[in-house]
Amino acid sequence: MKPQMLTTWSFGPTGNDAAMPSLLEGGHALNAVVQAATVIEADPTIDSVGVGGLPDADGNVSLDACIMTDPNRCGAVMYVQHFANPTQIARKVMEETIHVTLAGEGAEAFADSLGFPRSQILTAEAKAVWERWRKDPNNIDRDKYRGWLPPINVEELRGVDVKTRPHAAEPLHDTVTILARDVKGQLAGACTTSGMAFKVPGRVGDSPIVGQGLYVDQEAGAAGATGTGEIISGVCGSFLIVELMRRGAKPVEAIRETLERIQKRFSLHQEHQVAFVAMSKAGDWASGALRPGFRHTITDEIGSRVEEPTMVLIQD
Ligand code: ASP
Repeated sequence: MKPQMLTTWSFGPTGNDAAMPSLLEGGHALNAVVQAATVIEADPTIDSVGVGGLPDADGNVSLDACIMTDPNRCGAVMYVQHFANPTQIARKVMEETIHVTLAGEGAEAFADSLGFPRSQILTAEAKAVWERWRKDPNNIDRDKYRGWLPPINVEELRGVDVKTRPHAAEPLHDTVTILARDVKGQLAGACTTSGMAFKVPGRVGDSPIVGQGLYVDQEAGAAGATGTGEIISGVCGSFLIVELMRRGAKPVEAIRETLERIQKRFSLHQEHQVAFVAMSKAGDWASGALRPGFRHTITDEIGSRVEEPTMVLIQD
């Protein structure tokens, strides 16, 4: 069968290109998604995942990740603050414990016990962005942690000229979800993130929660998410897409129905964005977003292509 990887956002090639050679040589889909996630997590220029991720309101970075190949084979960590590669730790939770999810200090003690190296996750660049955010008196008021944190234009805080930035169609770089299918037709997924920038300390989004940020079932397909986690969580977005595919929907139809449910059930801000990637057992795939701005990366034997999503629900 034709191996392929489908990844959220335009920095997908960073990970997919590293993992694809082994996948083409017959490597397992799980190895491919973990390898791709690890490369992206280590890249300090990607400010939404791993090293270089933007911090919470107190200036501390916390990472969340999960991996999955089947309902009985998944692992996750959340609120990891001192390790660069949460996806690898999530894999160990799956392979070496009787649990699915470890959080916070317990997850870090587990990583220590396996010899994962501790590292500094907060980069000088991410700290500078946070310091600019803190200087705004409106944001300092958020110390009270009450109510809704309005969407933030991180590009402006970073001092990027939004008119000339290289990925002009992407207002924010977000969670990386990677789906892969190997030569045997086996599916796997990984989802890794530093979560919403300047979140309330302690907040965990959809990304490390099986069924929300990622879901894989060898009998039905795989799906993963990026965007405002609170919205994705409310509809169990990735699980819903896989269940719709199980009942016969094509990946693009399953994504559309899930986005329509989100649109119907939430009071959406203009800035809310949610996007999904999905792959059926047969290898059909699609991506879709609530609004323009999202792009996916598809990688196969020809190489990686960064493309517009298959569908966009709301054409602003
Ligand atoms: N879904 C992630 C979260 O809510 C963030 C993102 O994709 O931007 O934590």
